[in-house]
Amino acid sequence: MDMSTATHTVFSKRATQLTSSAIREILKITERPEVTSFAGGLPSPEGFPVPELRAAFDKVLDNQWASALQYGRTEGYTPLREWVAAQMSREGMTVDTDEVLIVSGSQQALDMLGKLFIDPGSRVLVEAPSYLGALQSFSLFEPQFQAVPTDERGLVPEALTDDLTRDARFIYVLPNFQNPTGLTLDRPRRQALVERCADLGLPIIEDDPYGELRYAGDPQPSLLKLGRAVGASVIRLGTFSKVLAPGLRLGYVVAPREVISKLVQIKQATDLHTAMVTQMAVYEAVRNGFLETHLPKVRALYQRQCGYMLEALKAYFPTDARWTHPEGGMFIWVTLREGIDTTQLLQAAIARNVAFVPGAPFYAGVKAPTNTLRLSFVTVPEARIRAGVQVLGELIGPAR
Ligand code: PMP
Repeated sequence: MDMSTATHTVFSKRATQLTSSAIREILKITERPEVTSFAGGLPSPEGFPVPELRAAFDKVLDNQWASALQYGRTEGYTPLREWVAAQMSREGMTVDTDEVLIVSGSQQALDMLGKLFIDPGSRVLVEAPSYLGALQSFSLFEPQFQAVPTDERGLVPEALTDDLTRDARFIYVLPNFQNPTGLTLDRPRRQALVERCADLGLPIIEDDPYGELRYAGDPQPSLLKLGRAVGASVIRLGTFSKVLAPGLRLGYVVAPREVISKLVQIKQATDLHTAMVTQMAVYEAVRNGFLETHLPKVRALYQRQCGYMLEALKAYFPTDARWTHPEGGMFIWVTLREGIDTTQLLQAAIARNVAFVPGAPFYAGVKAPTNTLRLSFVTVPEARIRAGVQVLGELIGPAR
């Protein structure tokens, strides 16, 4: 018998239905240096504060090495939790330390929230389109996705009818410079959303990795702040990935105590706690207001990059294409004329060494349009943005 053939391997139903993410497949291709990639969602390494992080890690390992290298509490390193609570309080609300849980990247929070809320068949409300990584996390728990309609201003609160929201476990919302559309929810819609969810008793998961990267327009109040005022249950996710570096794998959840204590039990079973040395070093790096000098540089860089992309789109894309004008973050969402299939366009683009992400995988619970795509602009040099967008424009062809 050939022992090398694993004929008896039986994976769970959950694992069997997993498919590899469309984006991961594209990213493999884009690793080739000759490819100009607008596909990735990576922050720019130019924004990684290497000397400051090195100094912070050194200091922690010099002075607090025993606790930094030891197991820690599941809830997280207390001074960092206090720092997160204080950051939230800048908006004029009181967040207590025990309403904060430190996680190993906000992606971990999405997985844990799936475990907390979703039974097979549970209804889960997501924007159409929404963040692919969240759709993947939630999918493992076999929900029934219900798409919430969006328009050029983002999620439409009036669409949250009794029918659409019946028995839903939560609504997942990205209010600032959404991934993938770059859209920001305006104040009236935020207010309408939290009021409607308070009426329905529907928890809101507010995922906000990009909120600190605003480079245009006026800051909007968080759903957490607005939700608290009207009695909505808001679970807010934040991360150090876009303000410091994603390799740190450090994020946080701010939520009502009963949610935090359940998440703590879940996290215990997942990874016991987030790396202490990382939590302590990041706390050391940010405790004295470092982000206040660091973030303006990152915002300026992203704004410049966004400007290059918008100029190139105007110069090279046909007049019947529409695209978003983000006020922050890393993404522009393009809608081409009906009839263009961006999955096919991608094949043609890759043949000419340009990559992007077709829009279809970002939709769940609704038939996806085929004529949308996401462009990420922060890591590509100006000249390559122009040349890459020109290639795409040629492949799309003139307006009809
Ligand atoms: N939410 C959104 C909307 C994201 O774009 C990302 C990262 N691409 C994450 C969550 C996960 O971020 P992290 O785990 O690095 O905190």
